[in-house]
Amino acid sequence: MSIKDKSSTHYDMEDTCRHYLQAVIDGLKDPVMIIDDSYTVRLMNPAVKKSLDHRLITDIEHLKCYEVSHHRTVPCDGLKYPCPLKNVMETKKSISVIHDHVDSEGKTRSVELTISPLFDRHEKFIGLMEVARDMTYDIEIEERLKKQEDITQYQAHHDSLTGLSNRTLFIDRLGQSIKKAHRSESKVAVLFIDLDNFKEINDSFGHSFGDEVLKAVTRRLLAIIRRTDTLARIGGDEFAMIIDDDLKASEVIIDIVHGMMQIMREPFVIKRHSLYMTLSIGISLYPEDGAVADILLKNADAAMHRSKEEGRNTYQFYTEDMTEKAFERIVMETSLREALDAEEFIIHYQPQINAETDRLIGMEALVRWEHKSMGLISPERFIHLAEETGLIVDLDRQVMRAAMRQVSTWYAEGLKPGILALNLAMKQLQQDDFIPMLEAMLHETGCEAKWLELEVTEGKIMKRPEQAVETLRKISALGILLAIDDFGTGYSSLAYLKRLPIDKLKIDRSFLIDVPHDEDDVAIVRAVIALAKSMNMSLIAEGVETTQQRDFLLQNGCSDIQGYLYARPMTAEKMTILLRERSVTES
Ligand code: C2E
Ligand code: CA
Ligand code: CA
Repeated sequence: MSIKDKSSTHYDMEDTCRHYLQAVIDGLKDPVMIIDDSYTVRLMNPAVKKSLDHRLITDIEHLKCYEVSHHRTVPCDGLKYPCPLKNVMETKKSISVIHDHVDSEGKTRSVELTISPLFDRHEKFIGLMEVARDMTYDIEIEERLKKQEDITQYQAHHDSLTGLSNRTLFIDRLGQSIKKAHRSESKVAVLFIDLDNFKEINDSFGHSFGDEVLKAVTRRLLAIIRRTDTLARIGGDEFAMIIDDDLKASEVIIDIVHGMMQIMREPFVIKRHSLYMTLSIGISLYPEDGAVADILLKNADAAMHRSKEEGRNTYQFYTEDMTEKAFERIVMETSLREALDAEEFIIHYQPQINAETDRLIGMEALVRWEHKSMGLISPERFIHLAEETGLIVDLDRQVMRAAMRQVSTWYAEGLKPGILALNLAMKQLQQDDFIPMLEAMLHETGCEAKWLELEVTEGKIMKRPEQAVETLRKISALGILLAIDDFGTGYSSLAYLKRLPIDKLKIDRSFLIDVPHDEDDVAIVRAVIALAKSMNMSLIAEGVETTQQRDFLLQNGCSDIQGYLYARPMTAEKMTILLRERSVTES
């Protein structure tokens, strides 16, 4: 290739200089071209030569830079193909730019061009030196890294199971909503949404089933919320939501909450199981219930717990007294654990009487917590918490063991305590080791199976009938009696009831309170009595406080009674005295 070109008169690079320059650029690995102001390539190094595609070159003597870099027939121009050389020709200053080249296969390459002006001895501009470095790979790597960084960022802010925002992002968004609301003097609502009974589902069907439940619930919730509302999963079965767009009235919130509860009504079909899910929701409002995100979320959580106490499947707005409650909960949970270790639970026994003969037929063991500083605490205040935390399993076992031991002692002393009724949490029935544990306990305490009756609540059996049937059959086979507690309050399925080995129904106290005045209650109690007779079950009425109630029950065919009318639950010592007196009068 000839360097000297007659058509370009001002180009007068001396031969020595030219050879020198050629030698310099030949030593460089990157493609280097010396280009004149008409885009003609005056010198090039081997790296450029190697990349030339001769099929595309018309005149190798007057090779143009755009032919080399782009396989184009015209210079780069305009916004789409800007020419970086022009810039240097005008300013006579070096630049470094990323420029898109097209290789011989038509692929776009990102090339970093370093373009410097060349001057002769007299400072006259004679052309440009362009050093090209292919950055395609580096840029790709960079993009990949960026993408990875984005993914990491995403993962740090999202829940991998449901794809919803996580707690971190939720708190962040809530902070933004608060700022916005502060400026526009509007409100923000925080919903704390907890799935009822999710732990039970997880425990009985396994975690992967539980995961499917969470995903299905998420899909339903997403289907009804507005695009502007943030839904997050902030814990195992806990979701939270921000409602903030121009929120002026609490009706909007209630509408959304109702919508959520409504959409849960349809059963979920997961791995061919059909199940019903309900939500307990707590709501807190900015600015009334807190000025910062953490507090609002905490208060919505406290309100959610109130919903649980109210019987689940409901919602509650936060009120100040809930903070105290929430605190009490935490204190209670911790001390409940300690109490189990310290065996601070004691048992009271409430007699069960045959009202016709006035004989003692048995007794129910009712747990109490003898707290170091708070005194005697009623089970109403801690059983629910014990169930939620799973502590109920150990608690019930402690109660069972102590009560069975006590009854054995009474029998050994020649007393006649009758049947011992024990309350059993559903969770207990779900323990794999329940039956062997029960057998071992009978053996260990010297208690006979026929002295025992286990009470299970109706609602709890009905929630998982198939599994319950199995365990209840095994219990029954051991010779232990089974009673349904609080009968009438759950949603009985008579079909299942028939399949269960139930010996006794306990009519719930709530139906007896207004008997014999309330017609509806009278009808219900009569129906329960008739039902028990037709299914060959025995009956007992609990919470009998008045002689009218007792007489009504006797007239209608229910003679077994438990209630304050006869005796309140009492300590083992008091019961021992009572048994001694009775054994004298009854023998
Ligand atoms: P429950 O099984 O329905 O027990 C009957 C409750 O009614 C007892 O309350 C008893 O003291 C109360 N009661 C009995 N007669 C009368 C009456 O004439 N009038 C009134 N107003 N109440 C009466 P308690 O001892 O407070 O127990 C509350 C609940 O705690 C029990 O209801 C039971 O569900 C649960 N519970 C008690 N002990 C245990 C236990 O060891 N394990 C489990 N899992 N639950 C227990
Ligand atoms: Ca009971
Ligand atoms: Ca009961």
